Amino acid sequence: HVFTKDEVRQMVKDEDIHFLRVMFTDLLGTIKSVDLPVSQLDKLMDNKIMFDGSSIDGFVRIEESDMYLYPDMSTWLAFPWGAEHGKVARVICSVHNIDGTPFEGDPRNNLKRVLEGMRKMGFKDFNIGPEPEFFLFKTDEKGNPTTNLNDKENYFDMEPSDPGEDCRRDIVLALEKMGFDVEAAHHEVAPGQHEVDFKYSDALEAADNIQTFKFVVKTIAKKYGFHATFMPKPLSGINGSGMHLNMSLFNQNGSNAFYDENDKDKLSATAYHFLGGLMKHARSYTAICNPIVNSYKRLVPGFEAPVYVAWSTSNRSPLVRIPSDRGMGTRLELRSADPSANPYLAIAAVLEAGLDGLRNNLPPIHNVDENIYTMTEAERAEKDIHDLPDTLHNALKSLANDEVVKNSMGEHLYNSFMEAKTREYASYRQHVSDWERQHYMEQY
Ligand code: GLN
Ligand code: MG
Ligand code: MG
Ligand code: MG
Repeated sequence: HVFTKDEVRQMVKDEDIHFLRVMFTDLLGTIKSVDLPVSQLDKLMDNKIMFDGSSIDGFVRIEESDMYLYPDMSTWLAFPWGAEHGKVARVICSVHNIDGTPFEGDPRNNLKRVLEGMRKMGFKDFNIGPEPEFFLFKTDEKGNPTTNLNDKENYFDMEPSDPGEDCRRDIVLALEKMGFDVEAAHHEVAPGQHEVDFKYSDALEAADNIQTFKFVVKTIAKKYGFHATFMPKPLSGINGSGMHLNMSLFNQNGSNAFYDENDKDKLSATAYHFLGGLMKHARSYTAICNPIVNSYKRLVPGFEAPVYVAWSTSNRSPLVRIPSDRGMGTRLELRSADPSANPYLAIAAVLEAGLDGLRNNLPPIHNVDENIYTMTEAERAEKDIHDLPDTLHNALKSLANDEVVKNSMGEHLYNSFMEAKTREYASYRQHVSDWERQHYMEQY
């Protein structure tokens, strides 16, 4: 629902809002926000809030730095905390050039562009149900994060009055007050690791929700003296944090385009071709769904994260799993994505990959129902199952050669992304780690 100006003014009064947090997302997925006193509400609603785009990662050069924030009035919501300094409402914005045109370096505008392409192909929505995972670490006296975990628990474990559990419950309560439809929240496999799943929504809202979710998790964790991190692999030797993306295309009439009751697996041709696109472009969208050096420390065997490009209806080891729900719940679960991904870019990339499968009737190759991890290399080669990229460097190389996935970003975002990521990898390569000294110092 897009709130009218009068409705917003009424909510500001009713809920006693004092500050407006105007949010958008930069290239690297970082939430940027400007706090405005509520006196600026009319200016905001008239699309007159200006900011300096040159200080935002991946945005513009100094010469062309003035940009406008246009609020999306369907994203208005009040934060359920912080009354001591006045209540805060947030609204998500898109970034516009000085002449009023949408800025193409804004990941949110870009996702809208890709969704427009999907609508031209006759679909109504691309629905995403994300499963973000995160760790809660204790903080020290100065409030800085440590590597100490709060608990020793495990998947679905429950303990009386555990601060991590209390914190997670508070996160869920806050989300619900903000209108999130939380479907599940549980302790994950690793100690100190949690997951909160919310109900699917259309791609744009899902990406907005992921950003808001991270902000809520971090805010509430802090109140409990924890640092919440969405870093994909904070500790070696235990599971990392993924952000599985459950996805489905919906038809104009509201039915699920992936479902076909006449197929033996009750999946439509659309689902199979989409899957074909996800298989074909896997290595290149990995650069976007797993965009940091650390992402690749998670994508290794033994920790429930995918390593091979394959799909299955029955086991959880491959890149894409098809959960058993059918009808409206028919969906593909991409298990590689992690929460360091910019959700706007990641969702645009997988959608464009899937749509390429539809445009070109790509076959759903790489189906495998055995456990891929216990296969020998020769068995994998025989079934034509290849690896996901093992480093950010190799993922970027695949992306550079994939016009379809590059198009999912558009030229501006692609160039800034490549530049930033190439620099990031070069900096990492120059770093000599403890592991190297431990293994080589005395031996050589
Ligand atoms: N944490 C695992 C990962 O890295 C997922 C575990 C699970 O949800 N089953 O993807
Ligand atoms: Mg899950
Ligand atoms: Mg999980
Ligand atoms: Mg899952």
